[in-house]
Amino acid sequence: MKITHKFAVIGSPIGHSLSPEIHLPVLRRFFEAVEYNKVEVKKGELPEWMKRVRTEPIRGFNITMPHKTDVIPLLDGLEGDALVYGSVNTVVNRQGRLTGYNTDGEGFRLSLLQTGRGLEEANLLILGAGGVARTLVLKAISEGASQITILARNPEKAEALLREAKKTIRETGIAFGESMGANNKINKDMRMEYGSLDEAAERAKGADIFINATPLGMEGMESDFADLAFLKELKREALVYDLIYYPGETRLLGAASALGLSTQNGLGMLIYQGMLADRLFADEDFDFDEMYYMVKVQLEGKVDRL
Ligand code: NAP
Repeated sequence: MKITHKFAVIGSPIGHSLSPEIHLPVLRRFFEAVEYNKVEVKKGELPEWMKRVRTEPIRGFNITMPHKTDVIPLLDGLEGDALVYGSVNTVVNRQGRLTGYNTDGEGFRLSLLQTGRGLEEANLLILGAGGVARTLVLKAISEGASQITILARNPEKAEALLREAKKTIRETGIAFGESMGANNKINKDMRMEYGSLDEAAERAKGADIFINATPLGMEGMESDFADLAFLKELKREALVYDLIYYPGETRLLGAASALGLSTQNGLGMLIYQGMLADRLFADEDFDFDEMYYMVKVQLEGKVDRL
């Protein structure tokens, strides 16, 4: 008899999650029979779900809002970036022992590599100071970025994010601004700056990677950038990365392309964080390039219909 390997994504709301489309094509390569379900778990219902996972044969699950932090005390351990981020998007169940991981930052790094860019020595200009900006900042610091500037409509949130990121990196034992160990890529001369969104034009000049980490321009969102003049200030070689994936080409990306700048949308990060989770679920390595295009094809159809 075939064993059905069960996986899930939990969160609230969960209806629009694309996780089944991202994970199933990959998981089907490793498991003969596989299920991946979207499970609505509301705030307050997490302990009950965790009890269920320990008794039912659920091999692993992904986590989205609002549980990425709340799940930590309910796990048996954390590994990798989850230890630094204090946030979990993937849980693997190994005979009832639940381990939490976070694949978001690494998903971002791999999606950048796709464009031929790395974070080491990079100058990043990030718009937005929310959850995803925090992940990007922690990844960029640990990969040796030379400068990170965050612009937000509430600049005090950008300042707080940078302050907290420095503290997090220090507390996790990585020497920041001190002598570097062999495996420590942190740039001891790294600069961190913050400001308001209307400083985008003056701040754009030195940026290698310009990132939109706000929902401005997202389908269904009323507001978009009022003025895209800041794009003209970017270097010709700069990358404009919009973390939004629906629509695939936001007004920001369209305008950047028209100026001849390189662009990237949020699908890359979404797919890579998913494949990194699948590698943990399957406990097997696989060719990310081959799987990437397979998942992307499936997702493009779905994203169009959202
Ligand atoms: P979040 O925690 O809610 O943070 C959103 C940030 O954008 C905050 O700084 C917020 O400012 C700002 N913001 C919201 N509305 C704004 C507006 N009208 N004008 C100017 N700034 C505004 O959200 P998040 O999780 O960081 O996600 C941010 C974006 O990244 C979303 O579009 C999301 O879809 C995308 N994302 C993509 C991926 C991927 O894999 N591609 C993963 C995660 C997120 P306040 O703090 O002042 O409200």
